[in-house]
Amino acid sequence: MTVEELKDKVLQDVPLTREEAEWLAVEPDKETLYEAAHQITVARASQEFDMCSIINAKSGRCPENCKWCAQSAHYHTKADVYDLLDEDECLRHACHNEAQGVARFSLVTSGRKPSGKNMERLCETARYIRRKSSIQLCASLGLLSEEDLRALHNAGVTRYHCNLETAPSYFPTLCTTHTQEEKLRTLAAARRVGMDICCGGIIGMGETMSQRIEFAFTLKELEVGSIPLNLLQPIPGTPLEAQTPLTEEEVLTTIALFRFINPTAYLRFAGGRSQLSKDAVKKALHVGINSAIVGDLLTTLGSKVSEDKVLIEDAGYRFSDSQFDREHLWHPYTSTTDPLPVYKVKRADGATITLESGQTLVEGMSSWWCMVHGYNHPVLNAALQEQMGKMSHVMFGGLTHDPAIELGKRLLPLVPPSMQKIFYADSGSVAVEVAMKMAVQYWYAQSLSAPGQEHLARKSNFVTIRSGYHGDTWNAMSVCDPVTGMHSLFGSALPVRHFVSRPRSRFGGEWHEEDVQELRDIVEKHHDELAALILEPIVQGAGGMWFYHPQFLREAARICREYGLLLIFDEIATGFGRTGKMFAWEHTGVEPDIMCIGKALTGGYMTFSAVLTTNGVADTISNHAPGAFMHGPTFMGNPLACAVACASIRLLTSPEYDWQGKVARIEEQLRRELEPARELPQVADVRVLGAIGVIEMKEPVDMAWMQRRFVEEGIWVRPFGRLVYVMPPFIIEPEQLSKLTGGLMKIVKEI
Ligand SMILES: *Cc1c(COP(=O)(O)O)cnc(C)c1O
Repeated sequence: MTVEELKDKVLQDVPLTREEAEWLAVEPDKETLYEAAHQITVARASQEFDMCSIINAKSGRCPENCKWCAQSAHYHTKADVYDLLDEDECLRHACHNEAQGVARFSLVTSGRKPSGKNMERLCETARYIRRKSSIQLCASLGLLSEEDLRALHNAGVTRYHCNLETAPSYFPTLCTTHTQEEKLRTLAAARRVGMDICCGGIIGMGETMSQRIEFAFTLKELEVGSIPLNLLQPIPGTPLEAQTPLTEEEVLTTIALFRFINPTAYLRFAGGRSQLSKDAVKKALHVGINSAIVGDLLTTLGSKVSEDKVLIEDAGYRFSDSQFDREHLWHPYTSTTDPLPVYKVKRADGATITLESGQTLVEGMSSWWCMVHGYNHPVLNAALQEQMGKMSHVMFGGLTHDPAIELGKRLLPLVPPSMQKIFYADSGSVAVEVAMKMAVQYWYAQSLSAPGQEHLARKSNFVTIRSGYHGDTWNAMSVCDPVTGMHSLFGSALPVRHFVSRPRSRFGGEWHEEDVQELRDIVEKHHDELAALILEPIVQGAGGMWFYHPQFLREAARICREYGLLLIFDEIATGFGRTGKMFAWEHTGVEPDIMCIGKALTGGYMTFSAVLTTNGVADTISNHAPGAFMHGPTFMGNPLACAVACASIRLLTSPEYDWQGKVARIEEQLRRELEPARELPQVADVRVLGAIGVIEMKEPVDMAWMQRRFVEEGIWVRPFGRLVYVMPPFIIEPEQLSKLTGGLMKIVKEI
């Protein structure tokens, strides 16, 4: 066994055994041990330093007999004795800390647990601070019930602190008025109500190194993310008053072992660090301490925040708000109690994203299909700035403007010739809502068009194909794939649509006649209640990344005409060149009755979309009661969005840009560089069309793991389900694309 071998084990995510940790503890070469722990800290733990602060909101007169504690009523100490502080005093401390850049503030009280009345006051205090500051709130109030914890959580406290203090084998010799089991019950309850937990202890209370290791493993089993480590301050009057302080070497060895055993945790300097020399503090930060309680500590004086910050930055850490993000910002399709990690972006240029850590990633997602010209594009920037100087927004009801008109002019030649009327909307999902409303209102208008047509008003439902994706709002969701769109979850609240299997015939493969039979059967049976068929032409995006045969669209269009259904194309993902055609309908020549566009419409700069339709549909709606189309969002036709969309289209269609050449080159390179994945046993399929490359795995992937590995490889790719895919910006350089596909292949092989 060597320190190096054990370090490599931890770096590869293999947990250390007790024996190995014991062996490390007696390793004579301390510098090697510290350096190994440092490398684990850099590779596995957060490099964003987490500073927190506390207020001793009630001090002294504690009935418990913890031998180390100045506040126990069992011992005669000089600790302050006071009852619960008022909310303004707590707020003053919170604001003082927040102003110094401290991320968290904890309300701490002495005693077994607060009285019912004090519990209410503490919740009120938390709410009070929440209304006047945005510091993240923690609490440490003793052995609380689940009910108390829920009240605290509802009051805005996101993390609960309760120390186990020391190894289970040692605790009973230090305290007899409560047990660690009671502490564990409180921590478990805090987790159940949705709080993070913070749990550590005190070293130097006479425990052996072996017991410190036992303690570190206990915390590992609990999966504690934040571990405060206090050095005992022997307090005159307490039974531990004569305890010899640990040597600096013992402290640093303990920190190194905690880092080996808890590689990803925040190891938090808490009380007692003023015993250490400045040099030892620096070493502790190097070895593994990546968080600290700063400012005044409970009953002993801590150190000044500004001085601490200098030390911390010198040790290579950054200060960041990602913990605030984790606790208060809800990311897409993410749990609040167990969120996937997020990476903080500092800026983005061209085909790269620069993280706050300074690392640069090659962009493989175009920020969900939209950022086709890359980030921070001078032409698009200028268009926005220029428009901003004139007007950022005016209502579109009763007013119009040049950017809206120019955008209309630029769109007409790009879309099917039958698309003559343009309705601007806010986002892709809203465009789908608008398209569906349009179809329903069309048939309503038809029902009024002549006597005997009343039955047409019943045509208000939709048919679509499985594994589609049309957005997250109510009606858009109702036509998403029922399984990936989680229809059962929304139960009877969601309108029930008709679904047919997605076409089996692949794009570029053979056409299977029977692919369209299911659609024909359903339409034949239900056409008198069907307003439209809605689908993504050729490429199904977020619902399955499937490319299907153009013949399906020709047949589907024929069925729609035959049975009186409108045909809606959702080209939100496929539009603006992504599939190798400006819009995917060009793969077939079939023109829809209604078409949705979005995503790349503004070159990815702003949320915006449009619904286009024929004169026939628009005029029918307009010529019958109520004589207008019933939709009109606040930000309709937003001038900034229109202006940047104009600039994006001007750029895309300029001869020098040569989007077709760009997309064709990406397609060719994706084919060449992804094709070898087909041979891998874990891969089910590889498909490429235009600037879209898909590797379909046989099993669902572990998204958090994979995303982390991609970032380590310097690429930005976000897989879902069994699908690992890229759709880079069109301006990506061949070397950047090779880096993207190379990283992709490497990580896929690791599965
Ligand atoms: C992304 C997407 C939508 C929804 O667009 P949002 O702007 O996210 O609301 C709708 N349809 C398709 C095909 C999409 O890819």
